[in-house]
Amino acid sequence: MHCARSVSNRPRPSAGADSRAVKRLLLIGGGHAHLAALSVLSGGRSAGLLPILIAPSPRLLYSGMMPSWIAGQSRFDDCVIDLARICKRSDIAWVEDEITQIDFFNRIAHGRRARHEFDLVSLNVGSAVSLGTQVRVESLVLGAKPFSDFIQRWERWRAQALRQARAHRLLVVGGGAAGVEIAFALAAMVRREPAFAGSSVTLATQAPLLPNMAPLARALARGSLTVAGVALEEGLRYVGCEAKEALFSDGQAIEADLVILATGATPPGWLSDSARRAGFLVTPQGALQVGADLRVSGASDAFAAGDCAQIVGQDLPRSGVHALRQGSVLGHNLLALGRGAQSDLASYHGRRQTLALLNRCDGSAIAAWGRLAFAGRAAWQWKRWIDTRFVAGFR
Ligand SMILES: Cc1cc2nc3c(=O)[nH]c(=O)nc-3n(C[C@H](O)[C@H](O)[C@H](O)COP(=O)(O)OP(=O)(O)OC[C@H]3O[C@@H](n4cnc5c(N)ncnc54)[C@H](O)[C@@H]3O)c2cc1C
Repeated sequence: MHCARSVSNRPRPSAGADSRAVKRLLLIGGGHAHLAALSVLSGGRSAGLLPILIAPSPRLLYSGMMPSWIAGQSRFDDCVIDLARICKRSDIAWVEDEITQIDFFNRIAHGRRARHEFDLVSLNVGSAVSLGTQVRVESLVLGAKPFSDFIQRWERWRAQALRQARAHRLLVVGGGAAGVEIAFALAAMVRREPAFAGSSVTLATQAPLLPNMAPLARALARGSLTVAGVALEEGLRYVGCEAKEALFSDGQAIEADLVILATGATPPGWLSDSARRAGFLVTPQGALQVGADLRVSGASDAFAAGDCAQIVGQDLPRSGVHALRQGSVLGHNLLALGRGAQSDLASYHGRRQTLALLNRCDGSAIAAWGRLAFAGRAAWQWKRWIDTRFVAGFR
C-alpha cells in the first residue's frame, strides 16, 4: 500500500520552477562525498532538482585534521566545515535532523524531528565504531567514529581530566592509520599540557601495525611511536572492557582510564536494516552495495557513497580521499537523473593506492606512497598545506 506523503519539513521549490516537474533530492549525511557533490549540485534547480541536505549537525569535522585538533596543533574551528553556510551559498536547502530509518518503497526518510519525502535519495552517512556491550565499565570508551559522538564525549572527558590534573592511562585500540594518528595526538597532548603530566599512551592492535601499508612506512611508524613514548602492543584482539580494563581474546588485560577504539568502522545499523528491508544488497559489514555509477544495486532512485557504500568489484579502503573523489561523480549522476539523462551516468574507478600522510603531531609527518615512505618536517608541511587549503576552499 502506498502511504500518504506528509512532511513537516518541506523546503519549497524556488520561485519560477515548475513544482510538478521538480524532483526532491534528499542528500542524507553531510559527509566528504556530499561536500564534493554540493558544488556540482548548486545548479540542481535548473536541472529539475530540489536538493536538500540533511545532517544532525552543520559542523563537519575534517578527518585529515582531527588528530591535530586533539594534539592541540589546530583550533577546533580551523578543522570544521560549516555545511549550512555552504548550502546557503550553493542554493541547496539545509535541514538539521538525524535520520533513523528509510522507507525506500514509499520514498520517506524518517528523522528524529520530521519525515522527509524524496524522489531521489543519496546516502553519505559515514560509519561508526561499535562499542560492544557496556557492562560494568568504569573507564570511558570512545569510538573514533562517528565524529559527532566522539567530539561531545571527548570534550566532556578532557574537561574533567583537566580539572583532576592527574596522570591518566590512555589506550588506543586499532593499528590502522586512524589509530596510529590518534596515538601520536594523545602523546603530543601529554607532552604539551602540564595537567596530563605522567600520563601513559598505549596502542594495542591485533593485526600488524598499518596492515595496508608497505614495510618501510610501518617501520617508520613503529620507530616514531617509540620516540613519541607510545607503548605498542601487537597481536591483541580486543573483546571489550570491564571495570577499568580493556580485555583481549587471549585473556590479557590492559588497565586504562580512557579507551579510544579505532578498530574499523562500519555503516550505521539503521541504514543496513532499511536497505535489507527494501531487498537491496548489503555487504557483511553493513555497507550498501553500489555500482560504479554509485547507484544502489537494484534501485533506480537511490545512490550511496563514502564509508557507507561498497562499489561492486572494487575493494577500496574506507577513506576520506575516496569519499571526496566519489562526490563529483555522484553530483554529476544526480544531475543527469534530474534531467532524465539515464544514459549519461559517469563511473567511479578508485585506485587502491593513494598518498598517505600520517601526522606525528610533533611538527613532522610520515608520507607513504606504495612502497616508498619518508618522515620529517617536509611531509608535515605538505600535509598542512593540503589540509588547510582543503578547509579554506569551503570557507
Ligand atoms: C582519526 C581519523 C583520521 C582519519 N584521517 C584520514 C585522512 O587523513 N585521510 C583520509 O582519506 N581518511 C581519513 N580518515 C577516514 C575518513 O574519516 C573517512 O573515511 C571519511 O570521513 C568518510 O567520509 P564519508 O563521506 O563517508 O562520511 P563522513 O565524512 O564520516 O560524514 C558522515 C556524515 O553523515 C552524517 N550522518 C551520520 N549519521 C547520520 C544520520 N543518521 N542522519 C543524517 N546524517 C547523518 C554526519 O553528521 C556527517 O555529516 C580518518 C579517520 C579517522 C577516524
